[in-house]
Amino acid sequence: MDKIKKRFTLLNAVVEAMIKQPETIKYPFAAMELPEGFRGAIVFDPDKCSGCGLCVRDCPAEALHINKKSREEYTLLHYPARCAYCGQCEDSCRHGAISHSNKLVGATTHKDDWVLVFKDSKASQE
Ligand code: SF4
Ligand code: SF4
Repeated sequence: MDKIKKRFTLLNAVVEAMIKQPETIKYPFAAMELPEGFRGAIVFDPDKCSGCGLCVRDCPAEALHINKKSREEYTLLHYPARCAYCGQCEDSCRHGAISHSNKLVGATTHKDDWVLVFKDSKASQE
């Protein structure tokens, strides 16, 4: 009797699993809902950036770099592969120029994607 009961339980579980929606998501083919406050890909607003370098100073992963020639002339770079998506740069920036989006960071095989030019003051003057 016990054996039959066990078999029914198993059969029940199999049927349930066949009917139920899968727990996993076919990402990236299906959209993934991320929770509010998720620290995803970094977004940058070059117009708000003053070039103060606080984000670079506070980044624990050395994922930000600033090449500064003068107060007005500088380049701010981001290295996504080094980034820990910790949120420190967002906290450090007094101008709201750098923040996290609610989007996942895509994988890449293009080496150009390993360095993002957040701001090139020369280019924005042209
Ligand atoms: S999220 Fe963290 S690791 Fe990434 S750039 Fe900002 S401070 Fe650096
Ligand atoms: S992003 Fe913010 S903290 Fe970083 S250099 Fe620009 S103004 Fe300063």
